[in-house]
Amino acid sequence: MTTSSLGYPRIGEQREWKKALEAYWSNSISEDDLHAQLKEIRLNHLRKQKRAGIDVIPVGDFTYYDHILDASVMFGLIPKRYDYSGGPVSIDTYFAMARGNAKAPACEMTKWYNTNYHYIVPELQDMTPTVTENRLVTLYKEAKDELGIEGKPVLIGPYSFLKLAKHYDLSQTEDWLKQLTVVYSQVLRELEEAGVLWVQLDEPSLVTNVTDEEMAYVKDIYETLHADVPNLQIIVQTYFDAVENYDQVVELPVAGIGLDFVHDGGKNLHAIQTKGFPGDKVLAAGVIDGRNIWKAKVVDKLALLEQVKQVVKTPEKLWIQPSSSLLHTPVTVQNEPELDSVLKRALSFADEKLIEVVTLKELLYSDQSADHTAIRENQQLFKDIEATGWRKQEPDTEAFSEVSRTASYEQRRPKQLEKWNLPILPTTTIGSFPQTKEVRRLRAQVKKGSITEEDYKTQINDYISTWIKHQEEIGLDVLVHGEFERNDMVEFFGERLEGFAFTKNAWVQSYGSRGVKPPIIYGDVRFKQPMTVEETVYAQSLTSKPVKGMLTGPVTILNWSFERDDLPKFQVAFQIAEAIKEEVSALENAGIEMIQIDEPALREGLPLKEQDWKTYLDWAVHAFRLSSSHVQDTTQIHTHMCYSEFQDIIDAIRALDADVISIETSRSQGDILSTFEENTYELGIGLGVYDIHSPRVPSEEEMSTILNRALKVLPVERFWVNPDCGLKTRKEEETIAALKLMVNAAKHARKQV
Ligand code: GLN
Ligand code: ZN
Repeated sequence: MTTSSLGYPRIGEQREWKKALEAYWSNSISEDDLHAQLKEIRLNHLRKQKRAGIDVIPVGDFTYYDHILDASVMFGLIPKRYDYSGGPVSIDTYFAMARGNAKAPACEMTKWYNTNYHYIVPELQDMTPTVTENRLVTLYKEAKDELGIEGKPVLIGPYSFLKLAKHYDLSQTEDWLKQLTVVYSQVLRELEEAGVLWVQLDEPSLVTNVTDEEMAYVKDIYETLHADVPNLQIIVQTYFDAVENYDQVVELPVAGIGLDFVHDGGKNLHAIQTKGFPGDKVLAAGVIDGRNIWKAKVVDKLALLEQVKQVVKTPEKLWIQPSSSLLHTPVTVQNEPELDSVLKRALSFADEKLIEVVTLKELLYSDQSADHTAIRENQQLFKDIEATGWRKQEPDTEAFSEVSRTASYEQRRPKQLEKWNLPILPTTTIGSFPQTKEVRRLRAQVKKGSITEEDYKTQINDYISTWIKHQEEIGLDVLVHGEFERNDMVEFFGERLEGFAFTKNAWVQSYGSRGVKPPIIYGDVRFKQPMTVEETVYAQSLTSKPVKGMLTGPVTILNWSFERDDLPKFQVAFQIAEAIKEEVSALENAGIEMIQIDEPALREGLPLKEQDWKTYLDWAVHAFRLSSSHVQDTTQIHTHMCYSEFQDIIDAIRALDADVISIETSRSQGDILSTFEENTYELGIGLGVYDIHSPRVPSEEEMSTILNRALKVLPVERFWVNPDCGLKTRKEEETIAALKLMVNAAKHARKQV
């Protein structure tokens, strides 16, 4: 039996990878230095996987930025604006595509399936693929020559590559797949000639909704590839969910199929058990969670593998591996000296996951008696967690009963109009104001203990009062305190709630050299004490205008954290919701009766298959309502989201029953306006009138244009005027200038209605 891995994190234990890239970008190291440093990191990652005992180690998953960009570049799919004229692609062209340069903006970036990783979107207009340079051959040889590793080149498969791409006419799908198959054939032929045994072609799009027509294309592609490179052993690798069209996928003329047995809702296992699995193929079984950070229960995994063994009877045909690339996990638990020891033993990052894979292999065909050390230690670990009392809530299978505000929107609206007495087209912001160096330094100082808590509070209050004055001068109608005390909208709440842990080094790549360090939800989440009341009440004491309280919603907190794997996700969401509910009450009791609960990550949590959306949206909406429904009729609940694709989730958005929603608009106004042309939306709504991602101060006319267009499809008496998102990344002068113009635009619009 064989162990394998699908991909390893790039960032490095101490983020060496990020540091090397950023040093090159800032011209502090040469191109040669960059290549040398990245090679060192790359070889080190291969060595680590070998040392862990992994038999089939991936090569080519390592990248200088993003693996999809690598594929685009290898296939010469380089947009005209980068002035590429054939031959090997220079490192500067590569980085220009990733990050933009003085002459050309970067390629678009978007979320990788349902993860928080972002890939560079291939742009296909007016292009013909040709192989520029076969990087996989180079990397295969490097692993073999330098480390004696028989690597498994990894490449995104042709079908998924096209599905991830943009800017081609859908009517050309077939044509594009044919052209891509030609370049894939060439790359694979060269790999075969170089002596490669196994190639992993990732086809995660096979777990999304695949049409019959598309499935027929997939079959054609793999038949052609098989005819062109009959001796190369291709594994078609899927992950993140169960495959659609199981029967057809397992019949593809390839040497192996990789299936995810962790995030498949049991469906892949059910499929192999009821439909069988072809005896001539390898089943690469993803059994260790590649997306989360918990150690697996060894006995459960052995039981799962025993079931797989019943179907795949020849040990050589069964591979054990993580469910996906380990790109989505941090590197190692070793560098977390400050974590609680029980918690630390329960964690498994990339390096530890590889060991888990190897342990399973060792146990599967040998001694599985309960007193085997690996099994005993693993069981002890779970007993130790139980003994901590962190996890008292039992998994819940009961349906949840709906919660609602006492009065419907139509009933509470007149009461709110009377209470708040705002002009039509009220102006407000999304919450944060510029996080200057000084603000960040201040927070770092109090964390280190180099200033007293009291000093810190005084200085934060100074920022609040400065910005209350600014907002009054600007003429905004609903003010905010500015979020100066917050590092990050999830971390801030996680640090103040029970059940969250924070790491020192557990970084995960988000895009390019950027990483995130998600909190770990390890136990029942509970409210401890008010988290936002002091600052908000202080801000309110300085002004007669309303100050909006500012909270992060339960779904966003959950989606941006590593969650527990012993409770269903919805249940964790409800625990967080109950905690946020208490904060809402605390604010309300302190006289803050306009409260915004941000849910920018609600859409991100959508499952990959549309048939699963309803279940998710039902519990996500319920979580939001749990946190916000108990308020008085006159209390105004706001929410905010940073995207504009609403068409397909509009019913859920309406079901949140927020009195006011503010959404990001300015970069894709067309989409959002057509959504509201086709759907009535009867609650309060503010479509962002300017892009906060750019330092450019927009003109009043631009904002008026956006505003007037929005007012053609949305009722003026329910419309709010606000920027796209929080202003924490902007400079103070830009912010003040832009907001003044925004307020003017609103005033002009009021005169016209
Ligand atoms: N209230 C947050 C802010 O203004 C919202 C951020 C977000 O939507 N991502 O920064
Ligand atoms: Zn936002």
